[in-house]
Amino acid sequence: MHVNNSDEHIHRVKCTVNTCQYYAEGDYCTAPSIEIQPRNAKDTQETDCATFRPYQGMRG
Ligand code: SF4
Repeated sequence: MHVNNSDEHIHRVKCTVNTCQYYAEGDYCTAPSIEIQPRNAKDTQETDCATFRPYQGMRG
């Protein structure tokens, strides 16, 4: 699920994945929406953000 960055971050979502294209400083997600998978996940470890995209540039 690929979406463009939006100007505003998603409220009530804290994401610490700073290697994601949608990550913003302050632990925000700037994707317009996100998809979490998989169905029937058993624990936190198994639960992933399917919208994640590796950040290509450099982050200081
Ligand atoms: S798309 Fe997913 S992994 Fe990326 S910043 Fe948003 S919540 Fe985090």
